[in-house]
Amino acid sequence: MVRDEKWRTVSVLVRAAEEYERVEAPVYRSTGGPLFKTLLSSGCRMDCLYCPFSRHCKYPREKWSVDKLVRVFLELYRGGVVRGLFLSSGIYGDPERVVEEIVFVARVLREKYGYKGYIHLRLMPGTPSSFIREAVRVADRVGVNLEAPGPQFFSEIAPSKGSWSIDLYSKLSYAASLVSPYRNRVDTQLVVGAAGESDRDIMLLLEKLSDVGVGVVHFSPYTPVEGTPLAERVPPAPAWRSRQLYEVWSLISRYGFRLKELEAVLDDDGFMPRLGVSVKEFLARSHPEWFPVNPWNASLSELMRVPGIGPKTARRIIDLREKGLLTILKLKSVLGEFRWSKAKAYLDLSSPK
Ligand code: SF4
Repeated sequence: MVRDEKWRTVSVLVRAAEEYERVEAPVYRSTGGPLFKTLLSSGCRMDCLYCPFSRHCKYPREKWSVDKLVRVFLELYRGGVVRGLFLSSGIYGDPERVVEEIVFVARVLREKYGYKGYIHLRLMPGTPSSFIREAVRVADRVGVNLEAPGPQFFSEIAPSKGSWSIDLYSKLSYAASLVSPYRNRVDTQLVVGAAGESDRDIMLLLEKLSDVGVGVVHFSPYTPVEGTPLAERVPPAPAWRSRQLYEVWSLISRYGFRLKELEAVLDDDGFMPRLGVSVKEFLARSHPEWFPVNPWNASLSELMRVPGIGPKTARRIIDLREKGLLTILKLKSVLGEFRWSKAKAYLDLSSPK
């Protein structure tokens, strides 16, 4: 099934007992390269109101056997079609058993077949700590989908999926505590715009996620799916809202911005309008009191507020400064023409030492 331009279906021939079987495998184009991204089972006994796999929907359900899934994956991997596995699942039974089977797939790949490549596992609500530890041991990245920025929003859209605080947030935080300082090994996903949450609600959560060490947040714009209870009631969320939230997440998690510094992008109801420029540029224009920044004495966080200067470049500037090598010419060459054109209006270049 081709879902959008990021998905394609690859036909694989695998051996089962004495016969060969042709299997259709979903391949997802992630930023790091193609992944065999699949659900262990598309059957689910939960009733998330936006989800086509919920028990409300009458779509046909399928479940991989561990053996077939492993064979198909190895076929794709050895053939150079994918660079890794992303495995999640509908909750077809006791969530603990589902996550046990997910982790088992990864263990079979690692321990039986000696597979050393990329594995990304989605954990189920309420995953016991022992399974979280095991998942972190065998996988490169593990995640728990929070879906919404807090319990009140979550219960609106996923009434049977458990407690947001106990079954999801605390599990995610625990996983993050295990991988510290390798934050990018833990991720989560939010469905944006399904529960009426504001951007301020989301930003409050993002600040907490960054503080507990979660490294990756996916913002999935709510899209109504025919047959789901929310489809008639909630309009689709615009893609630009998610794009701006990705920028906000980067500012919080990589640049160290706090919510109080981001307030300027929010309207009275706590939503970001479509800004027309990057979130960082918008903030810079809204905070003239932050500028100009003098590269010869500014702190790291002051440098990172300048449009065109990210964490890596800010560190490079400080490094050059400490070695006595920072000149305007050097600064221009470090930034490159495009970023220099964005940054120079915010810099005080009058007194290089
Ligand atoms: S638990 Fe997951 S698969 Fe099941 S209905 Fe909710 S979002 Fe869909």
